[in-house]
Amino acid sequence: MSEKPLWRPDSGALRPDFWFDRRLDDFSTEEWEALCDGCGQCCLVKLIDEDDERLYITDVACRGYDCANGGCAVYERRKSVVPECIVLTPETVRESPHLFPPTCAYIRIGQGQNLPEWHPLRHAGDRGPMQAAGVTIAGKVASETDVADSELEDRIRPWFSDLP
Ligand code: SF4
Ligand code: SF4
Repeated sequence: MSEKPLWRPDSGALRPDFWFDRRLDDFSTEEWEALCDGCGQCCLVKLIDEDDERLYITDVACRGYDCANGGCAVYERRKSVVPECIVLTPETVRESPHLFPPTCAYIRIGQGQNLPEWHPLRHAGDRGPMQAAGVTIAGKVASETDVADSELEDRIRPWFSDLP
């Protein structure tokens, strides 16, 4: 079971469409957390070519990811379990946009765009449209705990370019 709630419909603090026409720096902590759709794509193991520094995405997820149900299984203690986990901040998004898919809410808002039509926040927390759009990695990836480092190159996938 994932420890991270993907959206908290009981939160009265979130206004409908609270993200609309706002900048990355404008959100409260609760709003910021709610923007993540939990797709997990930023939790995929990435490889960098030493020659040209090109980034490759694998279909292997971080050891903290709940590969069956989706979401980070160690969210509240992720930095102690996975020290290399990048904690999302407006600065992280601005400095390393290549680590996130173009569908990611933080990337979209940083570019002045609306959330994708299937985003759970646009469906009262329902993740069905998002799952139907094929955005989540849940059920499609292996955990890095089950994959040897020597196998990673064979698991490179065009994830980001395949998205709706
Ligand atoms: S890519 Fe963006 S929306 Fe998807 S899990 Fe990461 S931060 Fe959340
Ligand atoms: S520890 Fe970080 S990279 Fe790993 S699954 Fe959790 S949020 Fe994703």
